[in-house]
Amino acid sequence: MRVKRLEIQGFKSFKDKTVIHFDDGVTGIVGPNGCGKSNIVDSFFWVMGEQSNKHMRADGSMDLIFNGSEKYAPLSMAEVTMVLSTGSTGATLPEGATLRDLPPHMRFEEISITRRVYRSGDSEYLINGQLCRLKDIHELFMDTGAGPKAYSIIEQGQISKIVASKPEDRRTLVEEAAGIVKFKARKKESLRKIEATRQNLLRINDIISEIERQLGFLERQATKARAHNASLRSRLR
Ligand code: ATP
Ligand code: MG
Repeated sequence: MRVKRLEIQGFKSFKDKTVIHFDDGVTGIVGPNGCGKSNIVDSFFWVMGEQSNKHMRADGSMDLIFNGSEKYAPLSMAEVTMVLSTGSTGATLPEGATLRDLPPHMRFEEISITRRVYRSGDSEYLINGQLCRLKDIHELFMDTGAGPKAYSIIEQGQISKIVASKPEDRRTLVEEAAGIVKFKARKKESLRKIEATRQNLLRINDIISEIERQLGFLERQATKARAHNASLRSRLR
């Protein structure tokens, strides 16, 4: 996957809609101190689902929305859209499968990911203009090397952090590159479901033994009722 374009509006210092195109080769962004270069990096983290405001140098999500300046009033919403080209030109489908069975990055030639936050505190995520969950964004980036926790954004000082990090932390990076993060996440979810099913089974077994107890009691009552019925009938005769 390749980043084609970033569209920023109302995010931090970007009052007006700003579109940054990433063409082939290297794109450099230059400008005086405080002009918003690092805010662009922050917007990358943010649109990929980063949850820590501190990571985007903000105290809260409200700090991410344009706060106004001498000339301009504050805005009520921040929006960032990242457009990726997937390099996929429509995969050949296995028999019986539909497009929906494929992960999004194989389904479309181009994917746009949007994140919005309003002053009310509401926030939204969209993939190709369709509302989605944060989980869908995470799944989209799993094993691609991209995403807020992956190695696709190398910040100042990060190289030395990787070199000096604990082996367990470095392992996360290697696992991401090896493409097994998705399976680990799915394993975790499956284990959680198995545990939930085990709990359900326990409950059902409790219910069954309770019903069995009632069944014995009802059977005894039914026998009595039948006997009573028979004696009534003979008296009637
Ligand atoms: P440097 O070269 O010093 O690293 P930079 O280009 O990386 O600078 P940034 O840190 O991206 O600069 O931008 C900082 C600017 O963004 C500050 O002037 C700050 O006032 C502005 N800014 C941050 N959040 C908001 C916001 N919510 N509303 C308006 N402006 C904001
Ligand atoms: Mg900076």
